Amino acid sequence: MTTDCLFCKIAAGDIPAEKLYEDGEMLAFRDIAPQAPVHFLVIPKKHIADPAGIGAEDESLIGRMMRTGSQVARENGISDFRLVFNNGAGAGQTVFHIHMHVLGGRSLGWPPG
Ligand code: AMP
Repeated sequence: MTTDCLFCKIAAGDIPAEKLYEDGEMLAFRDIAPQAPVHFLVIPKKHIADPAGIGAEDESLIGRMMRTGSQVARENGISDFRLVFNNGAGAGQTVFHIHMHVLGGRSLGWPPG
C-alpha cells in the first residue's frame, strides 16, 4: 500500500466506495463521476502507478482485471461496453494507481474525444 494513494485507501477499506466485486487481489467499484449509465473501475490491490508500470510478473493480474471487468459488466446488464486504461496526464489519467474503466449502457462514439 502507498499511503498517499486514493485507490490504495479504497482497496484497504479506509475510504468508502460502492463495491461491485472484490477478491484478494482486485476490486471493482462504481466511478464517483460516471460518464455512462454503467461506469465502474477495476483496480488491482497491488499499487502499480500506470499501465507503463506493468511488469512481467503482473501479466496474469492484468488479464484477470479484464476478465473480471467483462464479467461484472454482464452482471450489471450490459453486453456492449468499453474497457479503458489511461496512461499519463496527457491521456486523461488523474489517479496514479492503475485502473480500468468499464463504460456502457449508452452508445459510445469512436474515436474517443
Ligand atoms: P482517470 O482519469 O483515468 O485517472 O480516472 C480516475 C477516475 O477515478 C475518474 O473517472 C474519477 O471520477 C474516479 N474517482 C476519483 N475519485 C474516486 C472515488 N473516491 N471513488 C470512485 N471513483 C473515483
